[in-house]
Amino acid sequence: MLLARVAQWAREIPDAPAYTFVDHLGDGARHTLTWRQADLKARALAVRLGEVAGPGDRVALLLPQGLSYVVAMLGTLYAGLVAVPLFSPDLPGHASRLDHAFADAAPSVVLTTRATLPLVTEFGESVVLVDTVSDLLADEFAGLPDLDQDDLAYLQYTSGSTRAPAGVEITHGNVSANAAQLYSAFRGTPRTSTAALWLPLFHDMGLIATIMAPIVGGNHVAFMDPVAFVMKPSRWFELLASFDDVFTGGPNFAYEYCLARCTDDELAGLDLSGVQVMLNGAEPVRPATVERFNARFAPYGLRPEAHTPAYGLAEATVFVTATGRDEPARFTRFCRDSLNAGRAVPHTGDGPSSTLVSCGRPYGQEIKIAADGGHVGEIWVKGPNVARAYWQDPERTAEVFTGDGWLRTGDLGVIHDGELYVTGRVKDLVIVDGRNHYPQDIETTIQEADESIRRDHVAAFAVQGDETERLVVVAERSRRGAGVPAEEIAGRVRAAVAGGHNLAVHDFVLVEAGEVPRTSSGKIARRACREAYLAGALSGV
Ligand code: ATP
Ligand code: MG
Repeated sequence: MLLARVAQWAREIPDAPAYTFVDHLGDGARHTLTWRQADLKARALAVRLGEVAGPGDRVALLLPQGLSYVVAMLGTLYAGLVAVPLFSPDLPGHASRLDHAFADAAPSVVLTTRATLPLVTEFGESVVLVDTVSDLLADEFAGLPDLDQDDLAYLQYTSGSTRAPAGVEITHGNVSANAAQLYSAFRGTPRTSTAALWLPLFHDMGLIATIMAPIVGGNHVAFMDPVAFVMKPSRWFELLASFDDVFTGGPNFAYEYCLARCTDDELAGLDLSGVQVMLNGAEPVRPATVERFNARFAPYGLRPEAHTPAYGLAEATVFVTATGRDEPARFTRFCRDSLNAGRAVPHTGDGPSSTLVSCGRPYGQEIKIAADGGHVGEIWVKGPNVARAYWQDPERTAEVFTGDGWLRTGDLGVIHDGELYVTGRVKDLVIVDGRNHYPQDIETTIQEADESIRRDHVAAFAVQGDETERLVVVAERSRRGAGVPAEEIAGRVRAAVAGGHNLAVHDFVLVEAGEVPRTSSGKIARRACREAYLAGALSGV
């Protein structure tokens, strides 16, 4: 059991740093919990929680990113209660996610901090302030409860790209397995390797990478608030450069964001040669992003092999596949028409092509494609990290979890030369005149067709026409596109989609920056965009 190792490190390496929070939004200082302190504070909180909650109760984490969040998570697990990792109610743009998840999980206790207390008053009576719990309570801790691998550890809400976020039941067995799988895939060195991150702790990737994976080998992790990263992305590289053997990760759009925002001045003098693995996952990995990013950061010592495409989802705890730690990202050019027809044929000669990035192989679990050999089909996953159910949703559980251990991911992909290529989501496919098209493929074409379009802020989706689906595109205007007439941009977009995909754009809506809806993890929310479009809620320019 992963959890028991916290106490082990507290005994074996009590003064080694475990969790460091870099408080860019506050005093700017680095605050650290050693393993001894992490264990002590988790025990104290567990004792406090034991006074207000009992077996099976859910405990909602409504705190900002920081060390208290880590203590809240560990303390809840120490108490044998079910954590619901959420966030402080003042996180902009997240209110509906919070209301939905909170109502769904029906927690009996809320964990927050003294500073955040005024924001959580409407979230129930029983509130515990993590940063006011006395360390002295730790002595009363009777030891970890008798936990079974099948006991629930926490509810992980999905990103909400295709629906309202769903609560995935993650057991102690799931989280122990997935942290170990991640660790073995990237061959971390116990007690030596470090991690440097800014991912939100309420998302699967941030939670596992920041709080759980370091427990496997008694490693040190330093992290910041995602808002601190967004305000000044070069902070990520400063943090990375302060370690010799360091692991990190983020979604593709974060790499694009750094390309757009980090200046030479900010990066001057940074040495990124200690970066072992820079995982790129959680959304489609774009070849152009990987290439541009590697070229931009090579002068600072970043090895191209460090860039590591990966695939995963909340229903599998998070991590499923990745390319090897020291292998460069692998790109394969497929014939686009074959791919759309469900076969992965490498591109030769003429005709449109789609370049896909390999997501590598699974670690400690199995994957299969639900289709005939070499064909594109739904990706299925089986392993000790695969959850058993959605929280209180038997209907959806039956659709997704087959009952014999296989998880139907809802993603389409193909195994080519032994590696997984993710082609898109089943639910997002645009099917016009009987032919399939992948929206992200179309979105890439569009953002590369015209500089007036903001990169990664394009949504392509289908609406029902009389006889067939029709393609609608909503795109944000870039800064460079200020003043360019919308009709001109629309013309270039239509021509690019017709040329590259042999497809007509039924409607093109150019909107101002910020109007294409995104999930709380920053992914394009095509479903929500479609709904806004159909409701007439988008104000085209
Ligand atoms: P929801 O399930 O609520 O609609 P979500 O699926 O985006 O949201 P997550 O579990 O956080 O929620 O994200 C997992 C999904 O992200 C995968 O199912 C897949 O669609 C996408 N994804 C993750 N990694 C990759 C990748 N390397 N390439 C393409 N897609 C990826
Ligand atoms: Mg999903």
